[in-house]
Amino acid sequence: MAYLATPTATMEVIRKYHFMFQKKYGQNFLIDANIVNKIIKCSEITKEDCVVEIGPGIGTMTQYLAENAGQVIAIEVDKNLIPILEDTLKEYRNVTVINEDVLKVDIRQIAQEQNGGKPMKVVANLPYYITTPIIMGLFESGAPLSSMTVMVQKEVAQRMQVGPGTKDYGALSLAVQYYAHPQIVLNVPAACFMPKPGVGSAVVRLQRHEKPPVIVQNEKKMFAMIHAAFNQRRKTLANALSNGFEYHDEDGNIVSVSRQDVCHALEKMGVNGSIRGEALTLGEFAGLSDLL
Ligand code: SAM
Repeated sequence: MAYLATPTATMEVIRKYHFMFQKKYGQNFLIDANIVNKIIKCSEITKEDCVVEIGPGIGTMTQYLAENAGQVIAIEVDKNLIPILEDTLKEYRNVTVINEDVLKVDIRQIAQEQNGGKPMKVVANLPYYITTPIIMGLFESGAPLSSMTVMVQKEVAQRMQVGPGTKDYGALSLAVQYYAHPQIVLNVPAACFMPKPGVGSAVVRLQRHEKPPVIVQNEKKMFAMIHAAFNQRRKTLANALSNGFEYHDEDGNIVSVSRQDVCHALEKMGVNGSIRGEALTLGEFAGLSDLL
């Protein structure tokens, strides 16, 4: 099978199988070998690695992953792509295709069964409509993943990288930075995909921290607080949390806070009581979560 990362080879496969692109699955296939090669390089995969690819499509990047990694697990939700993948990847003995929704699979179990519980690397051109749930789900699953090299919408990549005081700073920035070091490694024009997406794209590499950069007593509580703060980001933190923060503790009790609680905690931290969540660092959210 020839490489698929060209417009002609991709069109040939599409025609052969009468494949219909499904917008609801965010299907924009890569047609530029140069970009695929760059993604493979940035992902730093070796023959020692077990790679998880989310959404292999017709197998364009999977071919390169199979040639550069020890093993590839490709998770694809669209059942119409499965017979195509059987054809386009038939020469590769080290690829396993799983026909599932990535949001429903147990990545920890896959790591256990396929890689003896050792860390795997994620490399993917993600479906943009579920970028955040995929990335957060992978981090929160506690699955052993040492890095993720993922194509996402350009604005989302920027949101992952920024710090307090910028308009893009939000819950995604804080969550990603708690788990990993994000770095935009490549900008990709729409012309590199078939069909062309209506948005710009970027590849971001998330290198997992060995230890989180801040210490917090209760991660879940801190993230509930971060979500409440950014759900009402124009409000002061004290107002946003007293209205919108609710956390269910291990005993099933509902924990909420009053405006005064938040103001007292901020005062103890030496932070102005009228501050908005968008001005707080990850370390400050951790401190506040521990105090409340
Ligand atoms: N990797 C291919 C490429 O680069 O040409 C395709 C990338 S395309 C942007 C996203 C892929 O993710 C599609 O194949 C789509 O069917 C698949 N996908 C969408 N939702 C999914 C889900 N919930 N679970 C697994 N795969 C999904």
